[in-house]
Amino acid sequence: MAKAKLNLSRIIGKHPDFPKPGILFRDINPVYRNPAALKFIADEFSRRFSKTKFDVSAGIESRGFVVATALGMKACKGMIMIRKAGKLPGPTIKKSYDIEYGNATMELQAGAVKKGQRVLIADDLIATGGTGIAAAQLVEELGGKVAGFAIIIELAGLKGADRLREMGYKVESLVVYD
Ligand code: AMP
Repeated sequence: MAKAKLNLSRIIGKHPDFPKPGILFRDINPVYRNPAALKFIADEFSRRFSKTKFDVSAGIESRGFVVATALGMKACKGMIMIRKAGKLPGPTIKKSYDIEYGNATMELQAGAVKKGQRVLIADDLIATGGTGIAAAQLVEELGGKVAGFAIIIELAGLKGADRLREMGYKVESLVVYD
């Protein structure tokens, strides 16, 4: 008998006007602290990327770290942290970009990705796609190849996931909101 699919959208939290007026913040914390939901995310992404070859997963700070670690462990791969500026030691490369509520700079250690390595990028949510594009640019600048994007929540109205798809990237999202 088929098992009932876990309904992630019922578990994801919702906070109007956070962190700024006009932003409806989708809170992934209740999902991460729910063992069945966490397992569902790892299982569902490994199923969707079962035919995609990747050497390492990369998480976008900080909510993407959880997804990337789950995927990396499940596939017996390592995990790379793409961090906000100023947190990583040693030589790094940086990219600045706009987000739904402001702007940001992401950073990657220069030795984190080897030439030709296939990197699966993970985050909790995609809105305008600025963060995802910056992450892809960082990976590619080091000679890596983006194997795809594993994103829990897609805000379809902001078209970020479609921007990435139009650029030729495989994007898998588990919950889509308008
Ligand atoms: P973007 O670059 O516009 O695709 O924004 C994606 C990044 O900002 C992700 O790392 C999200 O965690 C965060 N983010 C943007 N909008 C929201 C939102 N409405 N709710 C929760 N997180 C958001």
